[in-house]
Amino acid sequence: MDAVVVGAGLGGLAAGLGLRRAGWRVRVLDQADDRADDRGGTDAAHTDTAITATDTADTATTPDIADTPVALWPGAFAALEELCPRCEPLPRAPWPPGSGVFDRSGRLLVSFDPLVASGAAPAVLPLDEVRRGLLRALGPEHVVPSAQVIGVRETSTRVVVRCADGVDHLTGLVVAADGPRGVLGPEVDDRPRVRHLGATSWHGLLPPGRVRPEWHGEMWGRGEVFGVAPLPGGGLAWYAVAPTGDPGRDLAPVPHEWFARWPAPVPEILAAAEDHPPVQRPVEGLFPLPRRYVRGRIALLGDAARGASPVLGQGAGQALADAVILELALRAKSRLDEALAAYDQVRRPQANRAARRTWLAAALHRLRHPVAVDVRDGLLAHAPQWMIGRVVLRALGGIGS
Ligand SMILES: Cc1cc2nc3c(=O)[nH]c(=O)nc-3n(C[C@H](O)[C@H](O)[C@H](O)COP(=O)(O)OP(=O)(O)OC[C@H]3O[C@@H](n4cnc5c(N)ncnc54)[C@H](O)[C@@H]3O)c2cc1C
Repeated sequence: MDAVVVGAGLGGLAAGLGLRRAGWRVRVLDQADDRADDRGGTDAAHTDTAITATDTADTATTPDIADTPVALWPGAFAALEELCPRCEPLPRAPWPPGSGVFDRSGRLLVSFDPLVASGAAPAVLPLDEVRRGLLRALGPEHVVPSAQVIGVRETSTRVVVRCADGVDHLTGLVVAADGPRGVLGPEVDDRPRVRHLGATSWHGLLPPGRVRPEWHGEMWGRGEVFGVAPLPGGGLAWYAVAPTGDPGRDLAPVPHEWFARWPAPVPEILAAAEDHPPVQRPVEGLFPLPRRYVRGRIALLGDAARGASPVLGQGAGQALADAVILELALRAKSRLDEALAAYDQVRRPQANRAARRTWLAAALHRLRHPVAVDVRDGLLAHAPQWMIGRVVLRALGGIGS
């Protein structure tokens, strides 16, 4: 039993790990040349050296994720534990009391305290740290870097995976974890297209002591969002979303244009970000969602299956859940077609539901009309916090908890 996973992002590495646990031989191919590197890179949580600028040669399609924070909900940690029960748990930085969602005047709209108290809050980590943990658990020798897949051809019993360098990989199963713009999505369902949602996001890491924030959580404006989260080891993660409109617009590496006049610590974070450049990416969705995750011997997983999640930090957790369910399906069914059908039947409705909920939440973020923003903020500020906590957890539908 031999599988090729295309893409060594979190989804592909988790899939490789799950496949190995189910008894498959695995090759994880990635077009990037550093995806088999499990050495510590720049890590804002543990160093005060400058974080190197990311390679922006192709940021619109494959942002360099090395210096990016990622939010993981408890469900994502549970999936990691399932995939690697003996791995050391990833460290989590606790949210300071009083964290939450604020409006631009600093009024608390949604407190994180009830989520924190019930153990249901997300934790933010450098994405590269999660990637390296998965890579070590999988074994870097299973990852083939600099292998750009350009297509697949199925025979009755095998699949040929063709790479740009002319190498063909013959295999019994292909897991497409090559992101929302991957070449393999259309092989399974040719309807979904990546659509720009009129906004851009910036994601950065700052070393310990560089900025001491007055608040943690998110601040919502009129179509803009600014997030600040503690990192394990004392560093700081931040992200910003702004309604930048035209996807072709040339944008500055740091979003002063939208956030320079925001309350502290936003201007201080932006100033520090000049030395620690963030990753910038367009906010996009895959529309419509796929009607199937599987065709023949090809299975979609992670962002390749449903696009990157625009808000709520669901992308990584959903990709990890895909990998867990794929492993369980392969273990439970002796026939590959039955296992893949089970994966599709269990995972697609769950994950598509989660994707739709993130779009709804994104719509709340994107409100720009002053009246609509006042109504949103007024409702949130005056609703009982226990009720909001329940709505948030319900909106996450068990996927975040
Ligand atoms: C800047 C940024 C911030 C994010 N923030 C969050 C967050 O806070 N919370 C959250 O849950 N999620 C977040 N995400 C999304 C999250 O990282 C992903 O949803 C998750 O990592 C799963 O991604 P993936 O492995 O499916 O795809 P990706 O991470 O996109 O990996 C795809 C891989 O496939 C490779 N590839 C693509 N095409 C080919 C090809 N033709 N041949 C070979 N290899 C190929 C790429 O090099 C890449 O390594 C963020 C993503 C980015 C980029």
